[in-house]
Amino acid sequence: MSKSLIIAIDGPSGAGKSTLSKALATSLGYTHIDTGAMYRSVALLATRQQIPLDDAVALRQLCQQMKLEFRPSGSEEGVFVNGEDVSMAIRAPEVSLLTSQVAACSTVREELVRMQQQLGEKGGVVLEGRDIGTVVFPQAEVKFFLSASVEERGRRRFEELRAKGVDVDLQQTIAEVRARDEADSNREHAPLRRAADAIDIDSTSLQIDEVKDLMLKVVRAKLAGE
Ligand code: C5P
Repeated sequence: MSKSLIIAIDGPSGAGKSTLSKALATSLGYTHIDTGAMYRSVALLATRQQIPLDDAVALRQLCQQMKLEFRPSGSEEGVFVNGEDVSMAIRAPEVSLLTSQVAACSTVREELVRMQQQLGEKGGVVLEGRDIGTVVFPQAEVKFFLSASVEERGRRRFEELRAKGVDVDLQQTIAEVRARDEADSNREHAPLRRAADAIDIDSTSLQIDEVKDLMLKVVRAKLAGE
């Protein structure tokens, strides 16, 4: 089986991109690249270093100096920034909101898109994000646009955070998901858009395994040259 496909999974927060892109990558023996974790890492570092989130020059420098790695952290896939395991810290709700601001900065996008293109250029990758099929890899062989209702996505995020022991409120979480949708869809640079040739999947009433099977079917058909 060819190992070289580039698979793009785009969509709004909480649609199931992370779970599905990891599962798909594992099934195919591909590398999983979580581009949201890259934007989150920049937001975390910028906050710690007290860089204003609209300072495009300082943010570009921060991206250029940041050493980012995806490698195991215990039994999970971890995100390391300058050697530190930030896997948990980048998921905090306050970092999620700041990330949308950082992600609206054109210099940050330029730097991270370049990194993502380098990481994925050889293929055999599943990239998840907002602009993979439109900007990072418009030539990706397989593109999915994964969505779900805002209430369902908020509920999933709420359960996920609660399971990690984070103290959250359901209505507040839904409101935050809605706010991020707004920010991600209306920003000037690379807003969340469905690529014209993406396959739409609405996961509102589907189980993870059902979506995964659907995706695998599409990928296998592509690999078989259909
Ligand atoms: O996917 P995740 O929820 O971790 O992404 C966090 C934030 O990073 C998004 O709300 C969005 O603002 C930004 N992002 C982006 N482009 C990507 C991936 C994430 O702008 N490719």
